[in-house]
Amino acid sequence: MTTAAASQIDYREYLRLDMMPHILCPGCGHGIVLKAILRAIHRLGLRREEVVFVSGIGCSSRIVGYVDFCTLHTTHGRPLTFATGLKLARPALHVIVITGDGDGLAIGGNHLIHAARRNVDLTCLLLNNAIYGMTGGQGAPTTPEGARSSITPGGAIEPAFDACRLALGAGASFVARGLTAQPLQLDDLIVQAMEHKGFSFLEVLSDCPEFFGRYNDLGRGPEMLQAQRSHVEWIGAALAEKQYVPGLGSDAPSHGAAPAFNAGVLHREARPDLGAQLAQRAKAAPIAPARRPGLAAAPEAARGGTAASGTAAGPMRIRLAGAGGQGIVLAGLLLAEAAVAAGRNATHAQAYGPESRGGASKAEVIISDGEIEFPCADRVDALVALTREAYDRYVSLLEPDGTLVVDRDQVPVESTNGFACHALPIAATAQQALGTTMGANLVALGAIVGLTAAAPVEAVERVVAARRPGGSAERALTAFRAGLALVAPS
Ligand code: SF4
Repeated sequence: MTTAAASQIDYREYLRLDMMPHILCPGCGHGIVLKAILRAIHRLGLRREEVVFVSGIGCSSRIVGYVDFCTLHTTHGRPLTFATGLKLARPALHVIVITGDGDGLAIGGNHLIHAARRNVDLTCLLLNNAIYGMTGGQGAPTTPEGARSSITPGGAIEPAFDACRLALGAGASFVARGLTAQPLQLDDLIVQAMEHKGFSFLEVLSDCPEFFGRYNDLGRGPEMLQAQRSHVEWIGAALAEKQYVPGLGSDAPSHGAAPAFNAGVLHREARPDLGAQLAQRAKAAPIAPARRPGLAAAPEAARGGTAASGTAAGPMRIRLAGAGGQGIVLAGLLLAEAAVAAGRNATHAQAYGPESRGGASKAEVIISDGEIEFPCADRVDALVALTREAYDRYVSLLEPDGTLVVDRDQVPVESTNGFACHALPIAATAQQALGTTMGANLVALGAIVGLTAAAPVEAVERVVAARRPGGSAERALTAFRAGLALVAPS
């Protein structure tokens, strides 16, 4: 990261001016936070393409719509999950999550504690205005005891979350609290949070004059900022270096609408972040190179393609479908994991009915050497159908030069429409090999791998052995190899 000299900032360079005017109410603290974020980025000298903003839902999350960077405005409470995937896929990016007290501590509270626990290298700014602003002033997890909201007209009786204490307890390696009343200190905190390697959590006390201020007779924006100032105790740098920070949050009961609080860096520790740990694991156990001679030509041949070993292959879309309880989803997962283990890109999407057994079930696996834009496909190159219902529902999606595998004892195939049809005794083979039809999914997996070479056999076997479906690696491999044998050239 380069640190630019604190040159004069022209905010317009960082804003989507075509999105103006913004929707924030006059005096809303979120605008102050937005400017502080832009100043921090400016100070760090980061280029637009080096930073991505991810937000959830709420007034705070809305500010992401105004910044001229790559932005993801996601679903309620889920920005940390989107951000985690993004960061793991693109570790060089600075990923800033903007969330609110409702988005990040109520519906998204679970994601927050696990992102902190995993120490994902993200900068999470939680804008805490102690109320749900966008939806009309309902009480939030941070509404202080005694404070009024639209659903607590007599004052909240529940204790409020201390967001910093929560993040610290969950394992965040950087925890800080800033406030809109002290915007320049806020710049510093954002810079420090962005420079920290690991999960950095910055709670920003913001103001909602429209609801929190109005319900609690706190005045408009300026009066609320003044109230913040008079209740803050700034934690100095010396304290921040200590493991134990006395008075984090406040040990005193926070009755009323304006509790005492501490601000500054409350906790900082160095510990490996999730991405670094995954990279180290991959280095310690190198993945087998993709498409060894003899392993890559088959899928293209099966599809009528021409890609040779060592060249980039386009996406292969495989759908496995059957009934709940047949292990369809697991078979798809094994296939996707094996492809990834072999150095290719893969996605796995699953769907099943509410029944634990017997309902429809499907898994969709897309494997490619290039980028996979979307984890679902309208058309498929290979279909495995273990039930008549699955065949009837999905056969029309199969490409004319595709590969169809059905359990011949379940699915009478009437016409093939040009594609290669392999009617195989899948459940019967599992019964013969294992003494039970449980394992038909692995037989089917063996057949589709043998026919398409979507993943190297060796990689699939390693994944199967590691996951031990059914509790026995040996039996699982027996079933998989029996499926391979069904389609082996005679
Ligand atoms: S409702 Fe509150 S939080 Fe939302 S924009 Fe208005 S003042 Fe800001």
